[in-house]
Amino acid sequence: MSLRQEKESREERDLAPYAMRSAQSRGRKHRESEDNFRTIFERDRDRIVHSSAFRRLEYKTQVFVNQEGDYYRTRLTHTLEVVQVARSLAGALRLNESLAEAIAHAHDLGHPPFGHAGEETLDELMRAHGGFRHNRQVLRILDLLEKRSPAYDGLNISYEVRESLLKAEKAEAPEAAEFAPTRQYLLEEQVVDLADSTAYNHHDVDDGLKAGILEETQLDELRLWQRARRDAKENYPGLTGPLRRRRIINSMFGLCIHDLIDATRARIAAMGLRSPEDARNAERPAVGHSEEIEDEVAELQHFLFENFYRHFRVNRMMTKCRRVLAELFAAYLENPGALPTEWQGWSEKAGKHRAVCDYLAGMTDRYALDEHKRLFDPEAKG
Ligand code: MG
Repeated sequence: MSLRQEKESREERDLAPYAMRSAQSRGRKHRESEDNFRTIFERDRDRIVHSSAFRRLEYKTQVFVNQEGDYYRTRLTHTLEVVQVARSLAGALRLNESLAEAIAHAHDLGHPPFGHAGEETLDELMRAHGGFRHNRQVLRILDLLEKRSPAYDGLNISYEVRESLLKAEKAEAPEAAEFAPTRQYLLEEQVVDLADSTAYNHHDVDDGLKAGILEETQLDELRLWQRARRDAKENYPGLTGPLRRRRIINSMFGLCIHDLIDATRARIAAMGLRSPEDARNAERPAVGHSEEIEDEVAELQHFLFENFYRHFRVNRMMTKCRRVLAELFAAYLENPGALPTEWQGWSEKAGKHRAVCDYLAGMTDRYALDEHKRLFDPEAKG
């Protein structure tokens, strides 16, 4: 018996009945022999970590443009925080940790430079040519743009990881046609979704306070923050200064994760889920908060939206970034000869607009800003 087969039988024994088992995967588009050591989802995770799109997350924006400072989250550090939360949740719920981990590593690969402002800008620029959404772009990266084999394009990732990444776009995107219809997604996908929002709610409060965009007095109005403040005070009485704030943020994070685990366990039991198919066919997602905490999380998210994501300092930075992307897009369309050679070839296959969009979406913040200088500043070196 190979180590992979041993792992598969351990999954059979240890995972919950509603967890996705590696041995039950619908497999890959292009036939390949199985690995002796790793399960299919472990292999997916490794392919994603070694992709160039993954490395570029280091210089892509979460909320702050990469140049703003070394302290703030980038898409790479955000992704690693999501992986951590997703693994904790998957482990506690006896789900397939390797599958959750693979999805989490890839969940933001499709983001263009400059975060949501970048995504909106590309979508507007591509309106007449099929639009742009980051969930769809992940599949283009994993299926077409990354290269690892002479036999096929892309990374040949498993059905389950690819379907989980397309998720919300599944209903309307043309790429969705190949996936079997379902009401919900696998619980491992649902876990990554909640791990994503839990991680950014937590780290955006941290980054916002650090940047001086948010004040603690504003947070004092929020029920979740009040709850975390009480918790931190009980566990660390008399603590003051930056460490006190650190403990409050940490309590908030812990409260949310524990609530997710408890509420999801209760919901899975109440829904009577017995298999991954039960989870997919259920009326509603099983992974989520209790009603009480869900309300408080929604209040925090609304607060962040109003006071952080739309703060004038963030807005100003993003207006500049939208202009950079739009000008680059126009410049390449007008002069496709300015694209690197391999991208000129891609333009013939994928069409000019889509190829320029793929090229721009793959850029880091840093690269896009430098390229803009190279193309528009007559003093800059080409
Ligand atoms: Mg994310």
